[in-house]
Amino acid sequence: RKSEISIESSMEELEELAKAAGVEVLATTTQNRPAIDVALFVGKGKVEEIKTFCDSMEANLVIFDDELSGSQIRNLEDAIGVDVIDRTTLILDIFAQRATTKEAKLQVELAQLKYRLPRLTGLGKKLSRLGAGIGTRGPGETKLETDRRHILRKIDFIKEQLEEVKKVREVQRSQRIKSDLPIVALVGYTNAGKSTLMNTLLKMSLEYDVEREVFVKDMLFATLEVSLRKLVFPDNFTFLLTDTVGFVSKLPHNLVDAFKATLEEVNYADLLLHVIDASNEDYHLQKETTLSVLKELHVDSKKIINVYNKVDKIEDVSLVPKEEGSIAISALNNLNLDELLKLIEVEVGVKTNELELLIP
Ligand code: GDP
Repeated sequence: RKSEISIESSMEELEELAKAAGVEVLATTTQNRPAIDVALFVGKGKVEEIKTFCDSMEANLVIFDDELSGSQIRNLEDAIGVDVIDRTTLILDIFAQRATTKEAKLQVELAQLKYRLPRLTGLGKKLSRLGAGIGTRGPGETKLETDRRHILRKIDFIKEQLEEVKKVREVQRSQRIKSDLPIVALVGYTNAGKSTLMNTLLKMSLEYDVEREVFVKDMLFATLEVSLRKLVFPDNFTFLLTDTVGFVSKLPHNLVDAFKATLEEVNYADLLLHVIDASNEDYHLQKETTLSVLKELHVDSKKIINVYNKVDKIEDVSLVPKEEGSIAISALNNLNLDELLKLIEVEVGVKTNELELLIP
């Protein structure tokens, strides 16, 4: 393993990713080996152990934290008797769930097809057997049981479509979407606490109703399908909040375009809340990764508030960086959230009743 993060962190993250994909995680296990087993990736004994566990717990999926070859997948499935996927397939599945724009969907499908192509021998049998399982979801779940040439044609077709989408986007850029309310986007690593913060803020909001959310969404983002939630606080301080797909460590190179495309929401945001798990020993690394991707997306000039989360888990809170405009919170325990709202208000606060009227 060449990655900079520890095996423990990587496995923890894999578990979170699995949960994000709707998988119930029953157990995790690791193996230390001088080299991988070409046929089975892990050793025979480990495979036996996994099989026994799956049989007794009626588990129906095994997820490996590293990329597997087509034949390894086939061998493992034959030996264990359940579906086997790897980290990349899992991540692509999450991207497929989260892709909202046409470009994002195409990019994810392209990445899925490219990933499956060299693994066809291993996957052929499996894909015809799998129903709506992980790795078959999303736009890419078409006719993979047919031959390689079909996939290659499909890849060419998607590339053409992507060119078209990009042309359209160039045109649209000149008529950039305008919202009457400030848009705030949550960015950050998987497991940093983005959805927890979203929920906590929603609970604090004076008014929240689903109908209205849909309406706002239709009006402003009919073509983008960005999911925005409208939050209203005292004094009519109102903004739209959107979550984004979380960053992951070890993001395979061939998934970078798909990942960036699913981050489209940040383009339309007035303010980014960069949620950082301050209790994670790798948080500096995670923070840097996020910032460098934001830079690549050319959105690093947007206002960013660093939100150091999970401070309830830290014994010495003075260790949390105190940068200007940053804040230490606990999304779970409602710590410092009023202060966070004040910071948001300073950056994007719009306080007029007229704006309210625009959105009935
Ligand atoms: P996301 O992947 O960024 O959306 O992260 P989640 O919101 O799903 O949170 C990941 C995990 O961290 C969950 O188990 C949360 O309960 C936990 N978590 C989130 N915020 C806090 C916090 O402030 N303190 C603690 N101790 N745990 C938190």
